[in-house]
Amino acid sequence: MSLQGNWSYPTAIKFGAGRIKELPEACAQAGIKRPLLVTDKGLADLPITKDTLDIMEAAGLGRGLFSDVDPNPNEVNLTAGVEAYKAGGHDGVIAFGGGSGLDLGKMVAFMAGQSRPVWDFEDVGDWWTRADAAAIAPIVAVPTTAGTGSEVGRASVITNSQTHEKKIIFHPKVLPSVVICDPELTVGMPKFITAGTGLDAFAHCVEAYSSPHYHPMSQGIALEGMKLVIDNLPRAYADGTDIEARANMMSAAAMGATAFQKGLGAIHALSHPIGAMYHTHHGTTNAICMPAVLRFNAPAIKDRFDLAAGYLGITGGFEGFQSFVQDFNDSMAIPKRVSDLGISNPEIDTLVKGALIDPSCGGNPIELTKENLTQLFNEVL
Ligand SMILES: [Zn+2]
Repeated sequence: MSLQGNWSYPTAIKFGAGRIKELPEACAQAGIKRPLLVTDKGLADLPITKDTLDIMEAAGLGRGLFSDVDPNPNEVNLTAGVEAYKAGGHDGVIAFGGGSGLDLGKMVAFMAGQSRPVWDFEDVGDWWTRADAAAIAPIVAVPTTAGTGSEVGRASVITNSQTHEKKIIFHPKVLPSVVICDPELTVGMPKFITAGTGLDAFAHCVEAYSSPHYHPMSQGIALEGMKLVIDNLPRAYADGTDIEARANMMSAAAMGATAFQKGLGAIHALSHPIGAMYHTHHGTTNAICMPAVLRFNAPAIKDRFDLAAGYLGITGGFEGFQSFVQDFNDSMAIPKRVSDLGISNPEIDTLVKGALIDPSCGGNPIELTKENLTQLFNEVL
């Protein structure tokens, strides 16, 4: 089976191995003549980035690059990116990378034409309507991991470097106009990142599937996304060059982010403040939190996971799914506790405060409180 496609949902997606070559067409489609490629420091020196800049240059698009992006991008990176964008006379952004490059690239395009500070556009009520929508630059997104799904999202996560809080910045026009999903870009990911990013996609699907909100479309996408991860992540982990598994993981990542319109939950409510304070890997942190959150949510989600387990090829219903998740983590060397990622003396009270104001809180099927969050943090740390 050829894993190729031109999709128009949830945005225009050129999907298939080798399709990074179509970047010039993607820029033309988005109306970009002088793009700024935004990626993170780690990716900037890799061959996939150099090759992509070569493709841009050969097509007369220049080789504009901004890569001063931290693993958890913040407003300092954003200001520098907007300055680079303006100084280079760019007219659009190629957001390139894992979550950091994608999220910061989208924000550079968003903020290039705004006069208010970025925090005024946090995903609260209708704050997004404060933005000058006509001034938002076009975005082409190119994921190089298979996890975040930010390439099909209308928001970015930006860390406030002063308060160490992760803030979600939302605007409908932050959804990239064109996405290139080329699984060949992901073959070089080391095992640790393959596992962490893949399990982030899995967490998006599990949390969307668990969320109590009414959104049957997302429910279906979440279920199929879980299936793709279960069938393909072990293959991609064992053999990074398995292009079919890499392609299916890239689909699963986009599906997870599409599905979580329905809501995220306690896994992300725990991992966002942990990541903001201690800079742990987002997907790995989620994976560690998942078994405890499944136990905690059990009364509210047992029935729906009893149904899902059959389709996922897992025997024993919800309990079977729980033990599957633990084995799945173990098979990819995910630590049992977040403290194994190098955190000592965590400030539980601060973490609980961060979790309570995290937007993911509202999507959890059991109401999260100071008491039960304290218990959950103690369990996962
Ligand atoms: Zn996530």
